[in-house]
Amino acid sequence: MPNRTLLIAGNWKMNNNVAEAAKLADELAQALPEVPAGVEVLVCPPTIDITTVHDRIQAAPIALGAQNVYWEAKGAFTGESSCDMLKSAGCTYCIIGHSERRDYFHETDESLEVREAGTYVEHVVNQVKAGLAGLEITCPKQVVVAYEPIWAIGTGKTATAEDAQEVCGAIRETLKEMFGEELANGIRVLYGGSAKPGNIAELVAKPDVDGALVGGASLKAADFASMVVKAGE
Ligand code: PEP
Repeated sequence: MPNRTLLIAGNWKMNNNVAEAAKLADELAQALPEVPAGVEVLVCPPTIDITTVHDRIQAAPIALGAQNVYWEAKGAFTGESSCDMLKSAGCTYCIIGHSERRDYFHETDESLEVREAGTYVEHVVNQVKAGLAGLEITCPKQVVVAYEPIWAIGTGKTATAEDAQEVCGAIRETLKEMFGEELANGIRVLYGGSAKPGNIAELVAKPDVDGALVGGASLKAADFASMVVKAGE
């Protein structure tokens, strides 16, 4: 059985001005002076808050990520940030292709009908193939895949752990086809969609669910810290 470090990742979305972000980051650093063995913690604040959050969490075992990145290194791309810029601000992760980016900012390929049509596994598999096509991976930690059924995001309706496993397992099989068994066994596949303290344990108990991408519950330090602890139990 592959031994993957669980990842509990907070996506703050467009919440928290600089002062609010500083407060939440301080609360998180206080709530998580250490994290359970086998669990990694990540927060992804809005770009404007990244430097502030970095300063506040740098002594804590909490990694920092961004919510979006542009692929060019520099130039006339108003409003964008490059990988190098995010790295220089302390980010080691970045969310790419979140369903809200696809839906509201035309990053394409999103469908509400597929669940009802019963073709969701095939749909997700095709999204993974398209999203990761051409990627060269040498180390499994370079990529994390988050499965987030759009009907579960911000709705309070969480997929059952069995539903999450069904799709995360299919994603793992797809990763094996694309990158080979060894790398695929090391890549974290997360579940996202109304994950919270009350359901994180059963989700991460599934063999192919390696943590969660957490929206709403990541905005409350106590809830997020509790998810980290419960994931590690
Ligand atoms: C998300 O959008 O990444 C997400 C999972 O949100 P929530 O936890 O609020 O459903």
